[in-house]
Amino acid sequence: MTVISADRTIPLNDTRPQYRAIGAEIRAAMDAVLEKSWFILGSEVAAFEQEFAAFCGVKHCVGVSNGTDAIHIAVRALGIGPGDAVILPTHTATFSALGVSMAGATPALVDVESDTGNLDPAQLDRALTPNVRAVMPVHLYGQAADMDPIRAWADRHSLPIIEDAAQAHGATYKGHTAGSLGRLAAFSFYPTKNLGAYGDGGAVTTDDDELAGIMRELRNGGQRDRYHHVRLGFCNRLDEIQAAVLRVKLRYLHAWNTARAERSAYYDKLLTQAGRPVTPLAQRDYGTSAHHLYVVRTPHRRTELMAALKAAGIDSYIHYPVPVHLQEAYADLGQGVGRFPAGEALANSIVTLPLYPELPFEDIERVVATITAFYS
Ligand SMILES: *Cc1c(COP(=O)(O)O)cnc(C)c1O
Repeated sequence: MTVISADRTIPLNDTRPQYRAIGAEIRAAMDAVLEKSWFILGSEVAAFEQEFAAFCGVKHCVGVSNGTDAIHIAVRALGIGPGDAVILPTHTATFSALGVSMAGATPALVDVESDTGNLDPAQLDRALTPNVRAVMPVHLYGQAADMDPIRAWADRHSLPIIEDAAQAHGATYKGHTAGSLGRLAAFSFYPTKNLGAYGDGGAVTTDDDELAGIMRELRNGGQRDRYHHVRLGFCNRLDEIQAAVLRVKLRYLHAWNTARAERSAYYDKLLTQAGRPVTPLAQRDYGTSAHHLYVVRTPHRRTELMAALKAAGIDSYIHYPVPVHLQEAYADLGQGVGRFPAGEALANSIVTLPLYPELPFEDIERVVATITAFYS
């Protein structure tokens, strides 16, 4: 049996190398905001919104407080509320569903493709009720959902699409960038996302002038002009310091996504050479993934594998261990075990392995050697 040294812990994610690399630029950008001392909805937010809209290939970006609020505001902008339902996959961060619930609407859950974890277009019919008002695919782990069949189905039922693009900054589908694949798209800039702030942040992108205008009002108390509230809004603004940080980081996003892709490919290669003791989730050739997370399916003994990784100084997680329909908070949906078999099977078998743009290739070798030794 191979002996693997645990001399240094391999974290699942590490944002420190990034800060070491670009810290001077970040500090200068933050300092400029501090000097100016204008902290909410100023020139940095406006500039970031323009730059991120251009990055996604759309006309508008509305900066908001976080990804969950981005979903909430997108749902509200479409006029969706109590009595309405929004279709979304059960295998996702539960925050996807919470954004819908915050608007008073109900998540109408669907199962996912067992090999990618993304919304399964073939399951959409089962979720359709007269209350459904929108469809929200999640581009899980960085890979775009299969938008053509989803769009064809949504068009057939005259439903708008909201992308949950929180894990997919820079991902593409058939040449188009995530954020431009639906009527609206919600992004999170949580610090560990591919584009991460140094705190909370989020955005909604759209080509629709009217929806963009509504969302600008909604995020700022429903004000059209200062002290003139034209609708019941929220306090969901992106702040100037986070926008300044995001502007610096956006310039590196393509390079970081490429570095993630190279590391994911190295995992793929080593796991194939090792006879696939665990199976990486499938990558479709319809686009380029943003490689947010590197997720594999284990054949059995997942808990023991994670313990063996831990003993070897390697962090691993499960994204996500409990599908939305089995969350205690969603017990009133009344959907028990067995309702969404593919999502449940994923939740019971997947493991996320370390991945970040600066992850040393030797660390990937150590992770794969540890997995291989465990299953041999
Ligand atoms: C992170 C995430 C969210 C929530 O974003 P926050 O900024 O943490 O509110 C929503 N959906 C998905 C798929 C996410 O990964």
